[in-house]
Amino acid sequence: MSIAAYEALMAFQRGTEALAQAAGLLGWDRETMMPPGAAAQRAEWMGAMEEVIHARRTDPRIGEWLAALEGAELDPVAEANLREIRRSWERARRVPADLAAAIARTTSRAQGIWAEARARDDVAHFLPVLEEVVRLRREEAAALAEGGAFADVYDALLDDYEPGLTGAEVAELFARMRPRLVALRERVMGAGAPRPALVGLFDDAGQMRLGRELAERFGYDFDRGRLDRSVHPFSSGSGNDVRITTRVDEADPLGCIYSVIHETGHAVYEQNVDPAHLLTPLGRGASMGVHESQSRLFENQLGRSRAFCNWLFGRLEALFGDAGAPDREAFYEAVNAVRPGYIRTEADELQYNLHIFMRFDLERALIRGELAVADLEEAWNSRFAADFGYPVDRPSDGMLQDVHWSVGLFGYFPTYALGNVYAGCLWAAIDRDLHGVEDELERGETGMVRGWLRERVQRHGALLAPRALIEQATGAPVSEAPLLDYLEEKFSALYGL
Ligand code: ZN
Repeated sequence: MSIAAYEALMAFQRGTEALAQAAGLLGWDRETMMPPGAAAQRAEWMGAMEEVIHARRTDPRIGEWLAALEGAELDPVAEANLREIRRSWERARRVPADLAAAIARTTSRAQGIWAEARARDDVAHFLPVLEEVVRLRREEAAALAEGGAFADVYDALLDDYEPGLTGAEVAELFARMRPRLVALRERVMGAGAPRPALVGLFDDAGQMRLGRELAERFGYDFDRGRLDRSVHPFSSGSGNDVRITTRVDEADPLGCIYSVIHETGHAVYEQNVDPAHLLTPLGRGASMGVHESQSRLFENQLGRSRAFCNWLFGRLEALFGDAGAPDREAFYEAVNAVRPGYIRTEADELQYNLHIFMRFDLERALIRGELAVADLEEAWNSRFAADFGYPVDRPSDGMLQDVHWSVGLFGYFPTYALGNVYAGCLWAAIDRDLHGVEDELERGETGMVRGWLRERVQRHGALLAPRALIEQATGAPVSEAPLLDYLEEKFSALYGL
């Protein structure tokens, strides 16, 4: 009985996963290939797909199969599949269909309005639709939290991106991180003249060629993926079809280089999941935080290391005739320069988390009803001035810079900082377990670290809960200490502190 129920449930689930992956490909196409005139038609396609997928995710037969499997003796993989299916089913059925549809409609409209508002630096243009998005997501959070499933409405949203984590835990983690990061930044900023950026012209074709080479050097399998261009770089897909994008600025090769390395980190994670999990709920990364740990570790601990920068300097000289810096040391300093700035996505390793801390506090207050949308700009600006020491110059450098809130992503921002914390834990374990990593990086190679990550983290997909996965991989409890130690050591050396 229970075996038959499990097989029926998994067969149904495979169909849902296949449809969701096909829907994801429509999204990839919209950002990379779609002719501009097709936007409205594409919205119809995606809306229709979403309706089918939502109906499958709330299908009453799922409840019957789950009930038939209650108390059955199953292996760990089946247990984990049921855990994930139950989680998704509980979430989907708690949210009324008309509310889910209103969220989908409003957020797709809001994204366009946000883009216009950002281009015109016009906060007032964006606030009415943001108000609607916040109201709908609060309603959804209340539905999810009903009956005590979550202690707090914000937790109900956070749980979608980082299962099992609460807002209170995030607040405590960030409070522990802040003092050491702020102190380190003050010492760095007080350490003399800011480091110069690269100077030169780096032609588009050369950058794309280097991008392909970097993706390969970091383990990306082009037989099961491809590299294209988009306005904002991203990675999408899973299993045997995982795609990445980048963008090119001929005056600054670092944007393309580190976007490729970052997105390759996400993509290699997906490509390395055990093929047995393909088209099941386990056939993807464990959480957004774990995902970000893979991309950050590739980008920062490997890609911005002195050893790898030495190799990269030589590669740029070979490709472009000039690396944009007089020597290897100046190149390494330019790659890791700490400068004042407004924009999260351009922030260095040291200041990045400070951008996340303020977003987390603001969005949590919005969802908990402690901050009104009408007061958001004032709250953002005063918080930024307090945290960074200079005022926001215009809204597109302030509360209009990120797309997330317009598309309803509340509870997502903390996973970026969590990814950095996980990456710190993993890097400390790698440093303990592996010898010769620096020599490899000096040759532009990454095989040892990739092998370690594949074995300890990536192949498991979503088999384990996020924190359990990191703790099993490292043999130690998750802590912010390894990340902060790493940052203090790196930037003290760089700035002669
Ligand atoms: Zn990322």
